[in-house]
Amino acid sequence: MQFFQFTEEQEMLKKAVREFVEAEIAPKAAEWDEKDYCPVELFPKMGEMGITGIFVPEQYGGAGLGHVERAICLEEISRHSAGLGIALMTHQLCVAGILYYGTEEQKQKYLPELAAGTKIGGLSVTEPGGGSDFMGQKSTGELKDGYWVLNGRKCFITNSHVADIDIWTVITGQDEKGRPVMTAFIIDPDTPGHTPGRKEHKLGLRGSVTGDVNCVEVKVAPEQMLGKEGAGAKIAMTTIQEVGRAGMSAINVGILRGCVEEGVKFANERIVYGKPIAKLQAIQFDIAETRLEYEAARLLTYRAAGMKDAGIPCATEFAMAKLYATEAACRAAKRIMDMMGGYGIVNEYPIGRFLRDALASIAAGGTSHIQKLIIAGSTLSGK
Ligand SMILES: Cc1cc2nc3c(=O)[nH]c(=O)nc-3n(C[C@H](O)[C@H](O)[C@H](O)COP(=O)(O)OP(=O)(O)OC[C@H]3O[C@@H](n4cnc5c(N)ncnc54)[C@H](O)[C@@H]3O)c2cc1C
Repeated sequence: MQFFQFTEEQEMLKKAVREFVEAEIAPKAAEWDEKDYCPVELFPKMGEMGITGIFVPEQYGGAGLGHVERAICLEEISRHSAGLGIALMTHQLCVAGILYYGTEEQKQKYLPELAAGTKIGGLSVTEPGGGSDFMGQKSTGELKDGYWVLNGRKCFITNSHVADIDIWTVITGQDEKGRPVMTAFIIDPDTPGHTPGRKEHKLGLRGSVTGDVNCVEVKVAPEQMLGKEGAGAKIAMTTIQEVGRAGMSAINVGILRGCVEEGVKFANERIVYGKPIAKLQAIQFDIAETRLEYEAARLLTYRAAGMKDAGIPCATEFAMAKLYATEAACRAAKRIMDMMGGYGIVNEYPIGRFLRDALASIAAGGTSHIQKLIIAGSTLSGK
């Protein structure tokens, strides 16, 4: 086994994205957070850089790279704006759904604009009845006069008010054992009856929009079905497991790096007893623990992303990465905030935003309880 190291190309990508982030994102991240604003105007710019369609094959207008490269981009962006990070990562959930389960016609129709960032994607799965109770969804799809008619309400949907292309899951019937049959559909921009509802006023991840999306008698042609009838549960699950949790892991690796870098800066600059607090052993322990958590989250995340690129099943590895990275980011942001004394709560410093963003990451992509159930299930069954 070799030690973990990025390739030369991956290092170049990291450098290019970092420069873009420092110019276009870092100076505005606090303002987006304060104004609860999602900078959609950056999507075409991220498209030009190959970020929005990073794992989309070149034939569909993407960069033709993989999930390690995607994690690099999300880490760099989320180092300064985890809010924009989740908007981008959810856009890529829509991309992944179409790329992995779409027909050739659907890929040709949707992927070029999604990869270019000229259209924004969303994935609407969660319902008011509980996101964890995935199969308890109530939204319905009925075949009437040759069209599927969709009705229902989705909640906590990232990009709810800014997405052009939305993947929806609905219940389209029951199987022979009476279990719900879930089917996924791609909803085109401006489809009548498909509208955003309430917008959540969130604690964190405020550089993204989160809210309800409603379907009222939405008519979609059979060609809009993603995968086969009944494939919706598999499509949503695998996309959330291997692309959604991957994204949330990388976003929180970015937050953790922010905690390390901001912590080091403050510890070196803050003079108490006539010397920088970095000279105090207790402060050094804070820095050490934060660095350790960053490195551990990073290794878990990039290992799982490498497995994804190699085509190795990695749902458990992403559950571990997501659980660890999000919980560690909460601990690290709180620790560095405490280390900063009174300054920790001053909004001029980003640490308070990092804490809020990390806290808001716990439920997104499935809660910590759910990740533990997945990890325990796989471990107890000897996998
Ligand atoms: C910022 C953000 C962005 C999101 N973006 C999207 C999106 O783009 N698309 C989308 O479809 N959804 C999205 N979600 C929704 C997210 O997937 C759900 O919030 C998540 O699945 C949890 O569902 P819930 O909020 O309904 O909590 P519930 O399912 O109601 O859970 C409530 C509590 O019960 C616990 N619990 C539930 N079941 C079990 C169990 N079996 N064992 C132990 N404990 C359990 C949970 O851990 C939690 O503590 C987003 C959420 C957030 C916060």
